[in-house]
Amino acid sequence: MAGEPRSDCLFCKIVAGEVPATVVRETETTVAFRDINPQAPTHVLVIPKEHHPDAAALAAAAPEVAADVLREAGEVAAQEKIDDAGYRIVLNTGAGAGQTVFHAHAHVLGGRGLEWPPG
Ligand code: 5GP
Repeated sequence: MAGEPRSDCLFCKIVAGEVPATVVRETETTVAFRDINPQAPTHVLVIPKEHHPDAAALAAAAPEVAADVLREAGEVAAQEKIDDAGYRIVLNTGAGAGQTVFHAHAHVLGGRGLEWPPG
């Protein structure tokens, strides 16, 4: 069923506390933790606790939780003090766009200059 935890999903295991992560924020519906392979001085992932394969599927099935993820991305940026200089929220969707973990997540990147287009 949409939203149910999956035993084969790395981020569901982080939500369950079965895989350790450096958690920086947590709400009733979301968890934010540092990326294991940071691409910027601040690189935090914000995920819904529910399992959905990508951001579009999350928004279709649970739009209020998708909004929570975006709100939390902004809260992370403020907490990490990258909001004044500007930061990027990235939602890689599909393997061709670089998605490697098929549990919806928003990357929050900042603390350095960010190029556009991202490549
Ligand atoms: P994607 O490529 O799917 O958009 O992003 C997945 C992200 O998850 C990558 O940036 C990758 O570094 C991160 N990641 C993969 N495995 C782990 C892990 O075990 N712990 C943490 N904290 N991040 C992970």
